Amino acid sequence: MPKQISKVMKYELKYLGEEDFYEMQKMLWSLQEDTREILNKTIQIFFHWDYTNKESLETTGKALNLVEETGYKDISGYVYDKLKSRYPDMSRGNLSATIRAASKKYRSSKVDILKGTMSIPSYKKDQPIILRPDGIRLHEREMIYTVELSLFSGDFKKKKAWKSNVLFQIKACDKAQKAIMQRLLSREYKLGESKLVYKKKKWFIYITYSFKKTDAKLDKNKILGVDLGVTYAIYACSIGEYGSFSIKGEEALEYAKRLEARTISKQKQARYCGEGRIGHGIKTRLSTVYSTRNKLANHRDTLNHRYSKAVVDYAVKNRYGTIQMENLSCIKKNTGFPKRLQHWTYYDLQSKIEYKAAEQGIQVIKINPKFTSLRCSQCGCIHKDNRKTQESFQCVECGYKDNADHNAALNISIPQIDLIIKEEMTSAKEK
Ligand SMILES: [Zn+2]
Repeated sequence: MPKQISKVMKYELKYLGEEDFYEMQKMLWSLQEDTREILNKTIQIFFHWDYTNKESLETTGKALNLVEETGYKDISGYVYDKLKSRYPDMSRGNLSATIRAASKKYRSSKVDILKGTMSIPSYKKDQPIILRPDGIRLHEREMIYTVELSLFSGDFKKKKAWKSNVLFQIKACDKAQKAIMQRLLSREYKLGESKLVYKKKKWFIYITYSFKKTDAKLDKNKILGVDLGVTYAIYACSIGEYGSFSIKGEEALEYAKRLEARTISKQKQARYCGEGRIGHGIKTRLSTVYSTRNKLANHRDTLNHRYSKAVVDYAVKNRYGTIQMENLSCIKKNTGFPKRLQHWTYYDLQSKIEYKAAEQGIQVIKINPKFTSLRCSQCGCIHKDNRKTQESFQCVECGYKDNADHNAALNISIPQIDLIIKEEMTSAKEK
């Protein structure tokens, strides 16, 4: 699914308008002050309404009716009309955007404010002027970018007899700034609500732009075989394709072993510590053991999140629309992990991969893992002597040599591999 991504780019501005710059600057400062007042007043009105309503509920058991009290169906409309006449110079669009910004801020902390656990937000001096996207016009001529901002109301412009809105040159100095400008001009990027900011005696525009993250087209017929193991926590590759992805398992294994050793020694200590420890219950005595288990669980969680994200990212980047993994419920791996720790790590890692793959639209197929680690991915020969050690694979039939996990992952990536193996086994028996 395409994701909408929003970002902000900062540009310095140079005033180009018809008014004297010093005069214009005074007007902009006054707009900043107006913005601050509007933000604060909006929040106060919102709060006042909610507070009165709450009091009414508590004393009379009846909620107030907004339409009856104010004549408005929603409080924002009431605020807008109330403030419109008080701030006649500000562009109407920016006024409503400013009210919306305050309303959003208030709503996000409303519960705490009404409970009294948080004070009412208050906006300080030098507020950015909030710019509605439809009041921002970008232009380009011979690589010189300009922006026309609608900052003032129609009445104000008439009074000033201005022919246009306020014009600035946009200083796009570096490559990224230019690239974003170009994409905004070509409408590849969508312009969002932005800000006019006064900082260190200069004016800046903080342009918000957004775009849809286009999904690389996934190919359902491209299958990534993912083998979960110990030497390699993950080995992922695909038969007939170049490239592979792997993560060494040492980090997880070492940590687990270290913690396991500590847990055992603490269990022993705890059993014999007698009365010396505060509290006499078994729970207190074993609490350090539990905390070690928590640590292990947290560590596993962090690692598995990182690993699963990495392998799914690899699949997306290489357009794998399918991931095949072993069905863990019919597996008994000689893992080298302490027995107690074997299951959680594989199940957890696998379910995290499944979950993240689903998010990206990748289908996950579970295959029967029987003989995938003993089968030669090149000639199909299945023999227990193919795998002499945990790490290495060498085919007794064709001599193919490989890392054992890589060979297993290649097998896992073959479509319908469990059926193929079944056939290969029956024909081998017949011989
Ligand atoms: Zn072979």
